[in-house]
Amino acid sequence: SVPLAFFSGIGAGSKKGILFKSGASLEALHDIKCVAMDKTGTLTLGNFVVQDITAETGMDADTLLSITASAEAHSTHPIAVSIVTAAKEKGLSLVAPTALEEKAGMGIVATFEGKTVLCGNEKLMADQAITMPTQQTAIGSVVYVAVNGAYAGSIRVADTIKPEATATISALKNRGLTTAMMTGDNLQTAELTAQTLGLDDVRGNLLPTDKVDGLLELREKHGAILYIGDGINDAPVLAGADVGGAMGSGADAAIEVADVVFMTSDLSTVDNAIDIANKTHTIVR
Ligand code: ADP
Ligand code: MG
Repeated sequence: SVPLAFFSGIGAGSKKGILFKSGASLEALHDIKCVAMDKTGTLTLGNFVVQDITAETGMDADTLLSITASAEAHSTHPIAVSIVTAAKEKGLSLVAPTALEEKAGMGIVATFEGKTVLCGNEKLMADQAITMPTQQTAIGSVVYVAVNGAYAGSIRVADTIKPEATATISALKNRGLTTAMMTGDNLQTAELTAQTLGLDDVRGNLLPTDKVDGLLELREKHGAILYIGDGINDAPVLAGADVGGAMGSGADAAIEVADVVFMTSDLSTVDNAIDIANKTHTIVR
């Protein structure tokens, strides 16, 4: 039978917008040693804004933006949404691709008007054998663009750290928990975010399967893991974590496999959830 205290714990959670899917998830949450989190949409708001556009000679910034937005128009990725928004704000017209492939953790390959357009990160460019200019240091995520096999320029987008994130990370650390970030974004942006928040461990440039490897490493090092994420790319690692936590604003696939759902997407409810789990444990004992 389910101890009565679990019902009260689940009830206390629901008052704060925390959905515990079972009593077992409350007990598992009490035992965690490390909180590992996705960056985009979990530690940050996931609202990217285009910062600057750098077009190669022979192409102007508006053309680069409209080509990229045409390729990104069908993607729900927050980076894609920001690029389409910027193009629409400038009144640029978009073209519907005749062929389209979204490569998870990398970007888009689209075909329209006799052009094959690639837009995504360094991994996509390397995967498609695009010769890139020498890398520059940039704050934010950079979307590189290539047209018909030739590098065409880049669009830099930036996201904002959630206002409650810093306080939540210190609350978790005060509980003696190790804090970590695992992201598909570039290592530079990952490290800057981790430094700002005071995270203990940071891993970037990760594909969905790399996040699972990272989880196993963190578990080996620190013990039971609460992993929190919001994307389709987080589903495998959420399923593998000792406790999987999903943001309410996240993808259905993430919410489905999670043990706990943070309905309001407010990071401070993560600390509330651990508090409820610890109090429930004391009562059950
Ligand atoms: P995160 O773990 O930060 O949520 P994702 O796995 O969703 O990241 O994406 C990882 C990286 O892949 C992004 O930072 C971006 O560089 C690239 N990427 C993914 N989808 C797209 C897209 N539609 N357009 C451009 N870049 C993309
Ligand atoms: Mg994400």
